[in-house]
Amino acid sequence: RAVLRELTELMKNNPDISPSETLPDTDPSVFHKRYLKKMRDLGEGHFGKVTLYLYDPNNDGTGERVAVKSLKQENGQVPDGWIKEIEILKSLYHSNIVKYKGCCTELGGQVVQLIMEYLPLGSLREYLPKRKLGVPQCLMFAQQICQGMDYLHTKRYVHRDLAARNVLVENDGLVKIGDFGLTKYIPEGEIYYRVREDGDSPVFWYAIECLKEFKFSFSSDIWSFGVTLYEILTRCDHRQSPPTKFFDMMSAAQGQINVVILIDLLERRLRLPHPKDCPHEVQLIMDQCWDADPAKRPTFTSLIEKFEAVRR
Ligand code: ADP
Ligand code: MG
Repeated sequence: RAVLRELTELMKNNPDISPSETLPDTDPSVFHKRYLKKMRDLGEGHFGKVTLYLYDPNNDGTGERVAVKSLKQENGQVPDGWIKEIEILKSLYHSNIVKYKGCCTELGGQVVQLIMEYLPLGSLREYLPKRKLGVPQCLMFAQQICQGMDYLHTKRYVHRDLAARNVLVENDGLVKIGDFGLTKYIPEGEIYYRVREDGDSPVFWYAIECLKEFKFSFSSDIWSFGVTLYEILTRCDHRQSPPTKFFDMMSAAQGQINVVILIDLLERRLRLPHPKDCPHEVQLIMDQCWDADPAKRPTFTSLIEKFEAVRR
């Protein structure tokens, strides 16, 4: 028995001799570091960094391209939230949600990288400014985001970071939601998740109750969807970005911290402006998403129908 324990310990500390490597039929969700060939950086957010790799076990360039997400700061310990993000993505199957492929574990379980499918056109933030997208295509993307979000909500997850930077583009006709780093599970019977975040929160995408009471709910995702819809219809033009526009509105007030001014402004019913070529029905949708009362906002199920009607 002592020998067995020693062997297990040895395998834990030395992944190269772990059984998954010696079995002929290996788990396709286990990716080995030595076959991952770095191609280029894809982007980074507050916590993560995503890189394009060629996974090439035959070592002849025939492998597949994968997007690999790792934590920006690695200080030995694997944070709980990171494992949760991986577990959440692993449990999601929908055509408008980025696909989980597997993990890469080094040093006997120390550093975990998340392997997902690679979406060649990047996020809407990279894609939209470069194209002259018509309104119908904008609305098609908006509806697809609603479909992915509707699925997420049926699984009782709130995304908490819905924004153009977290929507990935497969091709001119398909987008997928990515980045589940802030996603939380809402237990049956409860309606919100209370979190107090540190400085780096995406406050210009947050609903008023998130700013005031730190309450995140299915309805607060709807507010963020309204902001994402605004970003899509402004084609992610940085001169009209939500932070830029809110800063314009805030410029008069001095000496107060931003969030206090932002709350005050939202309480005075100030909102982002309607984008230039935004159809009237879509302006109404945006306004409903930004209702101060969470209960009055639409659901993703109802938004899918609304977009179907507008696009007809
Ligand atoms: P963070 O949690 O740090 O915000 P994200 O998961 O949002 O990290 O990824 C950061 C950026 O990397 C995205 O905004 C996007 O530009 C790019 N990216 C992420 N995943 C993929 C992917 N699967 N394919 C292509 N680009 C991606
Ligand atoms: Mg992100």
